[in-house]
Amino acid sequence: MDSLLDRPGEKLYPWGMDPLPDYETLAGLEPRIKDMERRARAVEDDGSGAFFCSNYLWLPMYTELRDVIGAQRKRVDGEAKEGVLFDSYAFERVYLVLSKLLPACRDCGCRKFQRVLHASGQR
Ligand SMILES: [Zn+2]
Repeated sequence: MDSLLDRPGEKLYPWGMDPLPDYETLAGLEPRIKDMERRARAVEDDGSGAFFCSNYLWLPMYTELRDVIGAQRKRVDGEAKEGVLFDSYAFERVYLVLSKLLPACRDCGCRKFQRVLHASGQR
């Protein structure tokens, strides 16, 4: 994935946290991130169901994550709306870690849709 986070030498943070803090630092600043990580790591696809859809589980987590970090973070009491927890790059960093923790989709509609999309010549 081409990400702005992978472009070396770009100064992203004027408030002394350049370069962008790593995932663990961000998670240390916002405990709800670690809570989400624990929940994502606990998800298993034991194969007992007819299918498993990672996206079905990820979408509500994504919505939750937007409230926790990034430009759409909901301020906690007394918090100024500034700093790295309100930054979209920080959101992207945490997103990239958490979204990969869930097991992959298996035999769900996502897979079928991907096959249709590829067959139709689209990406
Ligand atoms: Zn799926």
